[in-house]
Amino acid sequence: MTTKSASKKRNGFRKFWRLGVEEYNTHNFDISPDGELIVREGNYQYNIFDVVKKYGTSTEIVFPTVIENRVRDMIETFNAYIKVLGYKGKFHYHYAMKVNQNKEFVLPAVAEGANLDVASANELYLVKKMIEQDKFNNKIRVICNGPKTPRYMELIEELRAKGLIVIPIIEDLVELERMSKFKGEVGIRVNLNIKVESHWDKRYNRYGFTEAELLDLGKIRNLSVLHYHISSQIEKIDGIIKPLKRALELYAKLKEKNPGLDTLDIGGGAGVPYEKKKHFYSAKNLIHQIIKNAKNQCDKLGVKHPNLITEWGRYVAAPAQITIYKILAEKTVDNKGNNRWYVIDGSFMNDLIDTWAIHQKWHVVPVNNMNTRKLQKVWLAGSSCDSDDKYTSGGGYILLPRLEDCEELFIAILDTGAYQDSLASHHCLLSSPAKLIAQNGEIKIARKREAPEEVGKMFGW
Ligand SMILES: *Cc1c(COP(=O)(O)O)cnc(C)c1O
Repeated sequence: MTTKSASKKRNGFRKFWRLGVEEYNTHNFDISPDGELIVREGNYQYNIFDVVKKYGTSTEIVFPTVIENRVRDMIETFNAYIKVLGYKGKFHYHYAMKVNQNKEFVLPAVAEGANLDVASANELYLVKKMIEQDKFNNKIRVICNGPKTPRYMELIEELRAKGLIVIPIIEDLVELERMSKFKGEVGIRVNLNIKVESHWDKRYNRYGFTEAELLDLGKIRNLSVLHYHISSQIEKIDGIIKPLKRALELYAKLKEKNPGLDTLDIGGGAGVPYEKKKHFYSAKNLIHQIIKNAKNQCDKLGVKHPNLITEWGRYVAAPAQITIYKILAEKTVDNKGNNRWYVIDGSFMNDLIDTWAIHQKWHVVPVNNMNTRKLQKVWLAGSSCDSDDKYTSGGGYILLPRLEDCEELFIAILDTGAYQDSLASHHCLLSSPAKLIAQNGEIKIARKREAPEEVGKMFGW
């Protein structure tokens, strides 16, 4: 039994490290009485310090249950608002595979009713493999984005002939021509003339047709889906609602010449609260706003409510993985106050490339020694010989326990499940982290940490 004051103290530390908070997606995180990081899965729990002592670092830990819960809750929330608000269209969720193609991510999503959105022939090939093994229900719907190479088109045709619902999204005039003999439904992508708040608020977007070009096309054979993907990690709800309303105006106009058009695919973009700081929108409120605004806009335009598709990837995948490193060494930072470098046994440049590519902010917590007030301001350094291989939390600092107070110190980087794996690289030939799966109270090794021979082989040795 913990005493009252001990539990109060622990609550203080939990709050300090921003754990146990639903809005931050840390409700399944806790601190053990010994100051070790705990992750819960229902009534199972994992002591992360024990896990890394057993399996070593650098290590990624995937929690498939998080994916299942997020997909299930999302679909249920959409369906609930559709019912409550009297929206007449149906909702289909498509998991964007490019966000994380690992089996341990895709299968839990599919198990909870996700359809798929693929971005290449190679991603579609994985779908084909699952269909051939009778592992996927052939009612699963697959949206095909990305340039339709001959190999990609062949696969699309092959899977359609097998009875699968594959919907290629037409991106340009060449694809429009190529699709003129396609027997199934097709979608078309618009590059909406609108800006939203996110890292990718780019002035020039090369994907899809402009609004004017689309309206000039007239009738498009077998058109059933209008698609757009405005951006990723959209900062405000408004950045999702504004494009939705604009797309519905276009949808209404396109439908005049294309009566078979019955679905609007609003792409990805739902964000996650990486920084655990400022107020971030909840999925519940976002979904409420989507259905409410879609309904009002359609009623205003006098158009039948379309079926709605979302392709949210980051939203589902990011919180389902953490990455663990050991602190190898401490060094002085010679131009900044009291900051110290903590060198990790892995690499931001290799394993978490968005740190470097888009200045991604991560939430970093210790894995052990969490209940200490003796903290040190640090910058994190990767193990590669590159001075860009670092994480300074936007030029500020991260607070972590002092090395002199613990035998060894491990850190966890939260929300690493989206995009980092397929972007990963091998600068200085460092090994990629091991991948562990935590499910049903057990830890399984999905991928071992790369051995020197394996890394060498990739480079022809
Ligand atoms: C990348 C991408 C997605 C996923 O975006 P998220 O922001 O991760 O939800 C969805 N659809 C398309 C077409 C994409 O390119």
